Amino acid sequence: MPFSSHEADRVRAVWQDLDLPGIVDVHTHFMPRPVMDKVWAYFDSAGPLVGREWPITYRADEDVRVSTLRDFGIRAYSSLVYPHKPDMAEWLNGWANDFAAHHEDCLHTATFYPEESATAYVSRAIQAGTRVFKSHIQVGDYSPTDSLLDGVWSQIADTQVPVIIHCGSGPAPGNHTGPEPIRALLHRFPSLPLIIAHMGMPEYEPFLDFALEYPNVHLDTTMAFTDFAEENAPFPADLRSRLADAGDKILFGSDFPNIPYGYTHALEVITGLGMDDDWLRNVFYRNGARLFAIEQH
Ligand SMILES: [Zn+2]
Repeated sequence: MPFSSHEADRVRAVWQDLDLPGIVDVHTHFMPRPVMDKVWAYFDSAGPLVGREWPITYRADEDVRVSTLRDFGIRAYSSLVYPHKPDMAEWLNGWANDFAAHHEDCLHTATFYPEESATAYVSRAIQAGTRVFKSHIQVGDYSPTDSLLDGVWSQIADTQVPVIIHCGSGPAPGNHTGPEPIRALLHRFPSLPLIIAHMGMPEYEPFLDFALEYPNVHLDTTMAFTDFAEENAPFPADLRSRLADAGDKILFGSDFPNIPYGYTHALEVITGLGMDDDWLRNVFYRNGARLFAIEQH
């Protein structure tokens, strides 16, 4: 085990102090090994989408990563996969289907890309029991309003299977990142169950507005508030009171294993926000449990 039991004790103390049964972490990555190796090589190169030194804290074999999350008391997590080119999503979906079948604490994940086949394979993924989709606007370099996705969004609106969507312009902007494409998408599909990754970093305010305005739009905390994120994209102090109002729309996410700091830090920056214990219970567990129909405490 490369990770210490001391660290697991510190993680468990956070949810035990709140009298929770554990944590729901909506934003973690498990991928086919060759894909994960490429992702890690990219972070190692500090390429333009990353832009800075980014050591991967939890680089280890897959079974070690799974048991690390279990040692931490993570009751549910995801295996977020995403394509950067056509004819890749369906293969990733097959892998994620298999991964979820072998890891009952993993939320069955799927993804899509604007391509002719998307409507059909998203339909199959939903029928196969997908519980969360992932869309990465920067890496995929597509517009969420691309007409090739119309059939995808309408099925997602109908079935209310949530989509974790990385659509903010952090850590580097893309051709279609930022709030405007999402504003247009929500205008067309106002009931879409979107989970805006990274609190919409760095465009925190407009994405928080969407979460407060649209009943099915949520935010995940992934990397937000950490020392690493605050250096380049600080969360505005004057938004804190509206953060308190959005307590039932915010879900904890970590980006495990691809984070340049320890898991405890991701938790402690949230307990340090000055919110009350019920807000923390909602964010660490209850909102995710409700959204994904996980047993309530
Ligand atoms: Zn991520």
